[in-house]
Amino acid sequence: MYTDLEGKVAIVTGASKGIGEAIARRLGAEKVKVVVTYRSGEKEAKEIVQAIEQSGGQAIAMHADVAQEADVKELIRKTVETYGTLDIMVNNAGMEKPSPSHEMSLDDWNQVISINLTGVFLGCREAIKYMLDHQIKGTIINMSSVHERIPWPLFVHYAASKGGVKLLTQTLAMEYAPKGIRVNAIGPGAINTPINAKKFSDPETRKDVESMIPMGYIGKPEEIANVAAWLASSESSYVTGITLFADGGMTLYPSFQAGRG
Ligand code: NAD
Repeated sequence: MYTDLEGKVAIVTGASKGIGEAIARRLGAEKVKVVVTYRSGEKEAKEIVQAIEQSGGQAIAMHADVAQEADVKELIRKTVETYGTLDIMVNNAGMEKPSPSHEMSLDDWNQVISINLTGVFLGCREAIKYMLDHQIKGTIINMSSVHERIPWPLFVHYAASKGGVKLLTQTLAMEYAPKGIRVNAIGPGAINTPINAKKFSDPETRKDVESMIPMGYIGKPEEIANVAAWLASSESSYVTGITLFADGGMTLYPSFQAGRG
């Protein structure tokens, strides 16, 4: 537990399931007031709010499509109206839609970029604007991926968006460090969430993915939430501009394991 988090206010985007849900629950358990943001999963978001409240925390569900500028502005406004401030912004919402790059439609490209990259930009911009106006030394956490580093055929839009999140995070970290605002990213490896449900339900594919992870298993959303809680807390007070990979070693060139190469 990170006692300094108690009473802080956090927004988590795309929090109705998967990694966002785990982060919302973890921050709720840390006694952070959590805005559980959803795009389509209103029922799920409300259930998460209820669970947080039942274990003694505070939370509220709010709708926001992160690709819509007006939604993101309204999200910040309603958060401040409800909880009085904003200390932690977790830009987690994301999606993927594989296809061979030479056949990828412009609509698909634009959709992934607008959610995974532009959505992160809008969340950062609005949160930073609020923090600057109110002299809040807040913290921002952007959800990147191991694919900010590892190229990913069939996912050119996704890899480009996460590569973008990396430099966006570093640039904002540098720009706002003098104001005490920290901006970091998390780079999850393969995590067991709805985004991967179909893929991991096939035992062969699952085994294949596990073979690319030195630690030998697919991560749990809670293992990403642990990293988010640390980055949100003052335990990471001197950390800004990093991508913290939580990937069981996936970025360590696992094909070289056992002295191969
Ligand atoms: P998920 O599909 O389970 O959850 C994604 C969430 O984002 C959902 O709640 C969805 O409704 C929301 N979302 C999608 N588009 C949105 C929009 N326009 N506005 C608001 N919300 C929107 O996926 P997940 O695995 O929990 O992924 C969360 C984040 O972690 C994503 O950014 C993803 O790229 C990243 N990530 C996941 C993995 C993994 O293996 N699961 C690995 C690396 C990075």
